[in-house]
Amino acid sequence: MLAYNETPVQQIQSDFLEKARMRLFLKREDLNHPFVSGNKWWKLKYNLEEARKKGQQKLLTFGGPYSNHIYATAAAAKACGMESIGMIRGEERLPLNSTLEFACREGMKLHYVSREMYRKKAEPGFVKDLEKKFGDFFLIPEGGTNEWAIQGCVEWTKKIQETKFDYLCLPVGTGGTMAGMIAGLQERNVIGFSVLKDGDFLTKDVSKLTFDYTGKVFSNWRIETQYHFGGYAKSNNALQDFIQQFEQDHDIALDRVYTGKMMFGILDSIKQNKFERETTILALHTGGLKGG
Ligand SMILES: *Cc1c(COP(=O)(O)O)cnc(C)c1O
Repeated sequence: MLAYNETPVQQIQSDFLEKARMRLFLKREDLNHPFVSGNKWWKLKYNLEEARKKGQQKLLTFGGPYSNHIYATAAAAKACGMESIGMIRGEERLPLNSTLEFACREGMKLHYVSREMYRKKAEPGFVKDLEKKFGDFFLIPEGGTNEWAIQGCVEWTKKIQETKFDYLCLPVGTGGTMAGMIAGLQERNVIGFSVLKDGDFLTKDVSKLTFDYTGKVFSNWRIETQYHFGGYAKSNNALQDFIQQFEQDHDIALDRVYTGKMMFGILDSIKQNKFERETTILALHTGGLKGG
């Protein structure tokens, strides 16, 4: 089992928020575990349990060379005494970047997959070939999003329910975490901030994930697609300056890929009067600052 540290809800105080008559809180889930942090802890929890139930000692998963999911899976496997294999998109580059170097140190075996093959990773033939090569394993998809991940995020909402809020905000990559929030919070409002360019397809993905999990259609949520800063892992000076200023003002670190974009999006939405006055927003700090 993975250790879990209870996490605080922290109010973000500023003149701007006070003048706008808004209350903004941050659920500091980045503090739940030093290496399997934020939403990745919850996304992996039931995957690990399921692997164990099936008697699997080996996890195999996919990710890009900077993937938080690869990083977290390597650490989680080690903590649970399991083996792990990371199928990394692209060619090996030495020296390893800090994500892959960490994964290696945690015992993950890295294998590189050409971009072309990587696109076929979900096809049965491809998975069969991997089984021939590596023997039995428990497969976790890229980004870790599957029904077990959603189950974990639904469980996470029990802790989030304790806080009073009008809107829950979170960054969206694959949408697995958001689907879990919608399914778990039921009728409460959820707003996702896409970190991907042209993120409109995420609305369809999140609808499908939520429906497949609950058998219900929810309408009290939406995804903002204006705050991607050029796309996945892209950033610019405005975003970097914002993150730096936020850390100076509030002593909270945000990452450039996910939480920085979400927080920028929330504050900008307030500026644009997209929220009613006297609204309470709870934002999820989903982690992503590797090494805790
Ligand atoms: C992986 C990740 C996300 C995205 O989660 P999805 O379930 O794929 O939408 C958000 N924030 C951080 C910090 C992450 O590492």
